[in-house]
Amino acid sequence: MENKNIRNFCIISHVDHGKSTLADRFLEVTNTVSKKEMKSQYLDGMEMERERGITIKLQPVNMSYDLDGEKYYLNLIDTPGHVDFSYEVSRSLAAVEGAILLVDASQGIQAQTIANLHLAQKQNLEIIPVINKIDIKGIDIDSVKKELSEITNTKKDEIICISAKEGKGIEKVLKKVIEKVPSPKIDKENNFKSLIFDSFFDEYRGVIAYIRVFSGKIQKQDKIKLIRNKTVSEANEVGIFNPKLKPKKQLMSGDIGYIVTGEKNIKKVRVGDTITKKDQDLKPLPGYKEPQPMVFAGIYLKSGSEAKKLRDGLSRLQLNDSSLVFEPERFPGLGFGFRTGFLGLLHMDVIRERLEKEYDLDIVMTSPSVVYKVYKKDKEMVKVNFPDKLPSVQEIDYIEEPWVRVEIMTPEKYIGGIMDTVSNISSSERINFNSMKYVSGGEQSFIKRVLITYEIPLSILLAGFYDKIKSVSEGYASYSYEFIDYRKADVVKLDILVAHDKIPSLSAVVYKDESYQVGRKITKKLKEVLPRQMFEVKIQAAVGGNIIAAERIPAARKDVTAGLYGGDISRKKKLLKKQKKGKKKMKQSGKVPIPPKAYRVINQR
Ligand code: GDP
Ligand code: MG
Repeated sequence: MENKNIRNFCIISHVDHGKSTLADRFLEVTNTVSKKEMKSQYLDGMEMERERGITIKLQPVNMSYDLDGEKYYLNLIDTPGHVDFSYEVSRSLAAVEGAILLVDASQGIQAQTIANLHLAQKQNLEIIPVINKIDIKGIDIDSVKKELSEITNTKKDEIICISAKEGKGIEKVLKKVIEKVPSPKIDKENNFKSLIFDSFFDEYRGVIAYIRVFSGKIQKQDKIKLIRNKTVSEANEVGIFNPKLKPKKQLMSGDIGYIVTGEKNIKKVRVGDTITKKDQDLKPLPGYKEPQPMVFAGIYLKSGSEAKKLRDGLSRLQLNDSSLVFEPERFPGLGFGFRTGFLGLLHMDVIRERLEKEYDLDIVMTSPSVVYKVYKKDKEMVKVNFPDKLPSVQEIDYIEEPWVRVEIMTPEKYIGGIMDTVSNISSSERINFNSMKYVSGGEQSFIKRVLITYEIPLSILLAGFYDKIKSVSEGYASYSYEFIDYRKADVVKLDILVAHDKIPSLSAVVYKDESYQVGRKITKKLKEVLPRQMFEVKIQAAVGGNIIAAERIPAARKDVTAGLYGGDISRKKKLLKKQKKGKKKMKQSGKVPIPPKAYRVINQR
């Protein structure tokens, strides 16, 4: 294979702008997948991806294409668009030389378009701007072209317009990729060096590493070494993605492919590590930053009996998702569960749904929390990812919380609404307005788009921030965020008491100056969702032992015989007897069952 005929590239965009559909068309025009086998979003192989119509994992595929009598080897990586999975994008970018930046003509440039473009520029990739969905009626393609040409520094007439759905303009894009994306640099060094950009656990064959070869070559049965992890193993098989795994004799410099490592422990085959041959002593390639889970929540089962199944489910999901972390946790009323860390709220949602669907578990999730750094007076620092574990006020010197930079992309007309909404979310010390930029200098008569940047605590972002932005912009604004740093936070622990019992799983960390207000809100909302009991139930919010808000749910006198017709006296008596028994039992324990929706209340401030 001639190295000059290889092109490694990926497709990046905002979510739903058509990456996976464009990848489908590439698979077709290159005859990689036959018409018979073709289904839409072919590369979205996970059940969850197919159901939700989103891409969660990056997916590589090798294609070949003939142009002017030359055969080209095109290695494509399809990426996810949602901000939670930007780690997948950055890994893909490190394995390629070019990126197709896809923009939906009806949506225009969105927050993730910009965020992903910046990631690609940081890697010095060749950017190929493409406008998709031009089949949609009544859209202003010219405006989108103008904006896209400005943000990518490309001439307007260089921008390709396509319809991935109808298959229009697809080959133009491939030709542009061949023309513009540089072929991989040929490394004179003959030592084998490759970057692991993803890995996959196969039950029978062990860990399969997805690699980009930067120099040298590898063959089946070569002894390999993972430099950072100092693991030695053997290449049981090497091959390419066709898109299914297809064995090959060897992989060479410039190739994207896989190695079946035979390693049974996925933790030993770290994404970002460098694979060389066993007898070589080389420096590793630049790797990736490990993704840090940003959001934690407790996962429990509605019926406590299947704790082992829950652990198995989480362990299996973790095999192919190194950003998922969990540790056992236990609460009265909830039983055994796991405090679990996620990249963001969508990631959390996806994991919950996968546990329910793929492992047939009935899940209860407690409300999500960020990780607080608590600096104690004894100089020790503890990380608290679960509000109830916050040390007592007396022990604490100060607390820090994670902050993020949020970029909101919106049509000009919603600027006022968005700025008002954001500034009303919390105290002005916690809402730092950074900048506002027009995406394009623009001309009259087209919708101008604005990028508004804020710095805010992540906890505020988790508490329904995006829903508020979406509703005030009638769905037209999009957002993206990245972690910046930890900053001091004046927070306290808010305890919730139900029928005089403290419910640890309902505790929250709140800003001191908002604690009263939040306490009232939460108790009010809990009153709506907690089931009535045969006795009066008090719901209280407390800070440091002082009650700051309270509500009461009056006792219910349920007519248990209401469902019965006529005069079946004996059945009536039976039911009343049962009710009496129930009352007795309830009084004994004094417990009020906490329904799963109560946890959702805690986070909506
Ligand atoms: P991704 O999130 O970027 O991978 O986007 P998908 O490929 O999953 O597509 C998102 C949605 O846009 C799907 O419903 C596609 O059918 C639709 N779509 C993709 N390309 C086109 C196109 O050219 N025209 C139209 N009208 N719809 C498209
Ligand atoms: Mg996709």
